[in-house]
Amino acid sequence: MPYKIPFNKPFLSGRETEYITDAVRSGKISGNGLYTHKCHQFLTKKYHFKKVLLTTSCTDALEMAAILADIQPGDEVIVPSYTFVSTALAFIRQGAHVVFVDSSQTNPNLDIDKLESLITDRTRAIVPVHYAGIACDMDRLMALANKYNLLVIEDAAQAINSFYKGKPLGSIGHLAAFSFHETKNIISGEGGMLVVNAERFSRRAEIIWEKGTNRSEFFRGEVNKYEWVDIGSSFLPSEVISAFLYAQLENIEQIQNRRTALWNYYYQSLVPLALAGYVRLPDIPVYATNNAHMFYLICQNIEERSTLIDALKENGILAVFHYLSLHKSGYYRSKHDGRDLVYSDMYTNCLVRLPLFYELTFDEIDQIVAIITGVYQPRLHAEIVDHND
Ligand SMILES: *Cc1c(COP(=O)(O)O)cnc(C)c1O
Repeated sequence: MPYKIPFNKPFLSGRETEYITDAVRSGKISGNGLYTHKCHQFLTKKYHFKKVLLTTSCTDALEMAAILADIQPGDEVIVPSYTFVSTALAFIRQGAHVVFVDSSQTNPNLDIDKLESLITDRTRAIVPVHYAGIACDMDRLMALANKYNLLVIEDAAQAINSFYKGKPLGSIGHLAAFSFHETKNIISGEGGMLVVNAERFSRRAEIIWEKGTNRSEFFRGEVNKYEWVDIGSSFLPSEVISAFLYAQLENIEQIQNRRTALWNYYYQSLVPLALAGYVRLPDIPVYATNNAHMFYLICQNIEERSTLIDALKENGILAVFHYLSLHKSGYYRSKHDGRDLVYSDMYTNCLVRLPLFYELTFDEIDQIVAIITGVYQPRLHAEIVDHND
């Protein structure tokens, strides 16, 4: 059944097909060409990233990070349980043992107070996820990483154009991974980016990106032939993808402004229900900005969430829950050490995401909010009667 209001709708900002045509006409559509360079330049300039490499997905960028981090079988990597599979998978493929950390009570990001007790002499890296584009507390996290000599790999898949104390997310850890999947703010269908902040990984990152060869150096005229020098894979996207992405990046301010206006409208419209205690609204810590990647509510339990999703569905609106705790997944449950991760499970059961995309209208938000309010209205009335007794 097609939804009257879908959960997401990919937005074409204007010149995507024009740039793709240009790339095709130029006679080079494999990777590491003109549009890849334009994207690299744009992103390093705007966010002061030391080095970036476009990839075919954020999953790929995380895999590159795991290779660069030289994760070996038996090494431990700390990852939140409430995240997408790829955050853990990239390290599992290197043979790591993933140690899952719980979310915080106030938002789905990892609980920084629970990190230190999980660090052992086998721990090599921490992978914070900036859920919904809202920063983890990076000062505390980096301090802990420095104390124990651990690498920090930011899963910034959702975090483009978001900041921690004025610093762009993805610029703080040693490495970071972004996604341009069609469900994110800035898209190329499938797509991603590795950010290399620690200088020592810079050269090897390029080599791993280009199938274990020093081809990038050859292209720049730094060597007169290129050859096989390391492990690697084909992590780079074609120019067709980069051309699409460049058109999106050119319009990033317009895209962000629109999403932010929609997000703020949702928030302000739902405050009454939150004040009445029926749902919780997103919590944005003082050190974090909001890049309007996602608008979510936290219901009191799974039954109430199902009621809400069903009520919206009956009205042709698709709202969706999100991750299922990875420590309880079919693949990992027998490998997990048995600790309860209560907040990860709470978000698994209680978090619901509402439609949010460029072409959503304020009128559609009014409709969505009216249906949600309708679910709780009978109770609002019942309580008012109670209070009058
Ligand atoms: C979307 C997402 C990914 C995966 O991104 P792809 O580009 O689809 O590989 C990884 N981690 C998080 C937190 C995400 O939201």
